[in-house]
Amino acid sequence: MISSAAFRFDNSYARELPGFYVACRPAPVPEPRLLFLNHALAQALGLDAEALDGPAGAALFAGNALPEGAQPIAQAYAGHQFGGFSPQLGDGRALLIGEVFDCQGQRRDIAFKGSGRTPFSRGGDGKAAVGPILREVLVGEAMHALGIPTTRALAVAATGEPVYRDRVLPGAVLTRVAASHLRVGTFQYYAARDDAARLRQLLDYAIARHDPALANAPQPALALLDAVAQRQGRLIAQWMNVGFIHGVMNTDNMTISGETIDYGPCAFMEAFDPDTVFSSIDHQGRYAYGNQARIAQWNLARLAEALLPLIVPEGQADDEAAIERAVADATAILETFPARFDAALRAGQRAKLGLREQPAAPDAAPTAPGEDPAAALADDWLALLQRQQVDHTLAWRHLADAAAGDETPLRALFADPAALQPWLARWRALCAAEAPMPAAERAAALRAANPRIIPRNHRVEEALAAASDHGDLGPFERLLTALRQPFADDPALARYAEPAAREITQRYRTFCGT
Ligand code: AMP
Ligand code: MG
Repeated sequence: MISSAAFRFDNSYARELPGFYVACRPAPVPEPRLLFLNHALAQALGLDAEALDGPAGAALFAGNALPEGAQPIAQAYAGHQFGGFSPQLGDGRALLIGEVFDCQGQRRDIAFKGSGRTPFSRGGDGKAAVGPILREVLVGEAMHALGIPTTRALAVAATGEPVYRDRVLPGAVLTRVAASHLRVGTFQYYAARDDAARLRQLLDYAIARHDPALANAPQPALALLDAVAQRQGRLIAQWMNVGFIHGVMNTDNMTISGETIDYGPCAFMEAFDPDTVFSSIDHQGRYAYGNQARIAQWNLARLAEALLPLIVPEGQADDEAAIERAVADATAILETFPARFDAALRAGQRAKLGLREQPAAPDAAPTAPGEDPAAALADDWLALLQRQQVDHTLAWRHLADAAAGDETPLRALFADPAALQPWLARWRALCAAEAPMPAAERAAALRAANPRIIPRNHRVEEALAAASDHGDLGPFERLLTALRQPFADDPALARYAEPAAREITQRYRTFCGT
């Protein structure tokens, strides 16, 4: 058994919210083996990484030997999946095992995924396969290195047990670290049951955990809605600026914390096209790249609906005028979302263009592209990339070379590089007018804002296939090393910077992999 000094648990969810979960033990597994341990994250959590990196860690992270103080629970939640409401989803193959404080004093959930059936499992087996679990590791670590809020993988343990999907696959358990696992769907669960008392308890808990400054807000439910809208607006803008497509933005996969969660059929776009969809189950393109901000706002509207009983003043639940006022107040917040998203998107684009930050009021009315030369420049750039089917990541990245005086790598991405010239001239003029600086300085700023290495779909697949089909973790480990240095120019990492052949990308499909 791992000594109790390893995890210092303080399980607020289990303690403060009885009735919001079901206590449940992880299923024992036959042959635990550690496939991955995140040393940096372990240290940030105040854990002894060396002590965990061996058979004791394998037993722990496979769920066979729970650390002292762990209190495994399956959390209840509901959710809109592809627009249809399921009043009961919940942790069907996950368990929150407890909470710890990291070295910064932040409370973090420690949770298993793939640890067996729970009372929420419905028809599922509660298990997970090695491939999708390692995908979650790779994409989560990439997002973290890109500076995007995300849940992260602490460890992966192989179980030595087969899981049955369209074929037999090796099983694994992921240990996931999150600011919390509160979702839009957690609120929906109690709203769907007209349980105003529990809804209020959940609101108080969420505010204490994520927005303690709002504890004394005159309208706490509206204040939380506002805070979540702000965080999600920023998050989705960050996704857009790196070409990330979540793929399954159901309301149970949208956090209150503003972290990206549940890396299922996610993928990064290569050639720029807002209609890009990779998920095999997203037939309508509901969660296409270019729809993500709209969907986030739609999900926030579902959060607003769930919170409505708490927005209507107490004792006025039957007062039509009071309800109307509550709806109007919530709607006013939802309507700020496009401007908030836009402000974050545009701020990110300014950095990606090598321009200086422009202090923008978060609630300011959206500036029409015609009024903001940087926004117009970014829009025209993306249109150019789309017309010529240019790789999104490399195009942005090679602006740095262009700034340093070498346009060759950028021109090489375009079938018709002549079409690029007028845009480059405008870009140079705006840079000179708005943010004059030496060429080397601009190039460095551009390299710090535009990643060279993202999780390329073919590299991810190659790594997962080697691990899952041949038990070879080498490609996974090398890819992970590259993904942790997204802004580096190391020539040794060149193979991770290149896009796949177009035929591969066009046929590429991702699966939920559950
Ligand atoms: P997700 O696709 O991870 O967002 O999961 C959606 C819902 O399906 C959640 O309630 C999960 O717990 C449940 N689920 C997904 N896969 C499984 C599985 N293999 N066994 C049981 N429940 C599952
Ligand atoms: Mg989920």
